[in-house]
Amino acid sequence: MANEYPCMKCMKNVPRRMHAVSCDGCGRWQHRLCDTGITSEQYRLMSSGQLTMEWSCVDCNLDSEVRQLSSTTVYDEIPPDTSIPNSPIRELSQTLFHLMVTQT
Ligand SMILES: [Zn+2]
Ligand SMILES: [Zn+2]
Repeated sequence: MANEYPCMKCMKNVPRRMHAVSCDGCGRWQHRLCDTGITSEQYRLMSSGQLTMEWSCVDCNLDSEVRQLSSTTVYDEIPPDTSIPNSPIRELSQTLFHLMVTQT
């Protein structure tokens, strides 16, 4: 259980006693001191419930627009048929069907 919550910045474990925040977008953790931009005072207010802050990691901040673009282009590039090109199971069932047809 050493790396249950690895920091996405330094990849080290995030123990409960350390200041760390989880990304609202991907749920991954990052040490407060690893470029979160959150001050110890803000963190203290957050943990005591006096301040609510939405924090998202660098990846999620950068991704928000790119993800919307790629989701539309991916469907155009990959038509449903090419995902299973020549499945052996499909060929076998076709052969069996052919045998049944010729026997009757
Ligand atoms: Zn870290
Ligand atoms: Zn994230």
